[in-house]
Amino acid sequence: MKKFYIETFGCQMNAHDSEKVVGTLASRGYEQVESVEAADLVLYNTCSIRDKAEQKVFHRLQEFKKLAKHKTFAVIGCVAQQEGDKIFERAPHVSLVAGSASYTKLPELLVQLENGGKRVTGLSLDTTDTFETPYTRRDNPHRAYITIIEGCDKSCAYCVVPFTRGPERSRTSESVIAEGRQLADAGYSEIQLLGQNVNSYRDPSTVQWDFAMLLRKMGEIPGMRRIRFTTSHPRDFVKPIIDTIAENPVLCNHVHLPVQSGSSSVLSAMQRQYTRDEYMRRIEWMKNSGRDIAITTDIIVGFPGETEADFEQTLQLLDEVEYDSIFSFKYSRRPNTPALSLEDQISEEEKSRRLAIVQERQRSIQIRRNAEYVGRVEEVMVEGFNKATGQWIGRTSQHKTLNFTDSRENLTGQYLHARVLRAGPNSLAGESVTIQ
Ligand code: SAM
Ligand code: SF4
Repeated sequence: MKKFYIETFGCQMNAHDSEKVVGTLASRGYEQVESVEAADLVLYNTCSIRDKAEQKVFHRLQEFKKLAKHKTFAVIGCVAQQEGDKIFERAPHVSLVAGSASYTKLPELLVQLENGGKRVTGLSLDTTDTFETPYTRRDNPHRAYITIIEGCDKSCAYCVVPFTRGPERSRTSESVIAEGRQLADAGYSEIQLLGQNVNSYRDPSTVQWDFAMLLRKMGEIPGMRRIRFTTSHPRDFVKPIIDTIAENPVLCNHVHLPVQSGSSSVLSAMQRQYTRDEYMRRIEWMKNSGRDIAITTDIIVGFPGETEADFEQTLQLLDEVEYDSIFSFKYSRRPNTPALSLEDQISEEEKSRRLAIVQERQRSIQIRRNAEYVGRVEEVMVEGFNKATGQWIGRTSQHKTLNFTDSRENLTGQYLHARVLRAGPNSLAGESVTIQ
């Protein structure tokens, strides 16, 4: 039996792609191992969203170069798609380079490798396929990902994704719902629907469901306790999505709505297709929905041309929305993207300064927001036990971590209630309570 090792970089889409790649390999008789040394085939599922992420794979390839004689190395995912054949020049010990749009061809590519192929590639982006495999090796027995849409048809000026993941392709609602039912029957109680822009989901079959309809139907699957989704794009985030969430508690109290900047002129330069006011209208929908929806976002600082006044507007937006948490990044120049040629690039020092200010401002917002939870009782899904603190790790519907004490054993995967006794910027702490 051939042994393989896989390391995954980047987002949840990549994490789930790897689960499907692992399933595909296992169905062909490969066995997964936990170290490069123990493997015959070493796969790196890569991310190229920022330069730092991209460099990681080349460091890894360098690190294990001396083992190359006895092993086959494969680079898959976004760096593979972006760099293509150039990877063979930079790392001649690599035998397979394949982007995510070619994963449906993985079995054929593996046959070529097994037959001694040295420069095997899967790099076409000209596809209408989605990666559906009957074999998915899921890492978590309670919470599962389901990809509903692949690729991206937007052209945000900073973003490499349309070049690495290809055009938008939605799965049929029939196959998404069937996967949801199968998972519920197998004991999964939480599903996260995945896509670069889930809001632009369009069922390719005759029923033509949009995202709100798919969400509604997923929420009706018997046995399903929590449905989440990521990522939303403000332009396609329409009111019926919020109305659907408001109607069904299975749809979680959490929306990740990346804003990127609080300045309409930067948003326009980023080609985001919405203004600050349009974004704020969506925030109002959520705040007026009757549900206690936690809102999170992504921020980029130092996009070319971002002035001090633009930056100040981003800080004001943080105060206005009061996000539950944010991911914040320094703008990173990416190959092929429209922003590459923009003038007025911001220095690294200035980007670092702005990032630190954003993070500090958000930290104080989170301290304030989380303090409001003290005294409240929240339902948590138990994710595990932290031996060091003696606390169970719970996750609320709002996607907040709530660590709590409970003397019982084997609680992982269960839904319990916990009273919040303390709050920090990044988590809550408390004790379990029994609800009659
Ligand atoms: N499709 C999602 C969206 O539209 O928000 C996610 C794209 S990406 C995987 C996640 C985040 O990375 C983006 O929301 C953006 O904040 C950040 N990002 C993307 N390209 C970037 C770049 N060139 N430099 C810095 N951050 C970037
Ligand atoms: Fe990138 Fe924009 Fe597509 Fe998101 S919507 S993946 S940021 S191009």
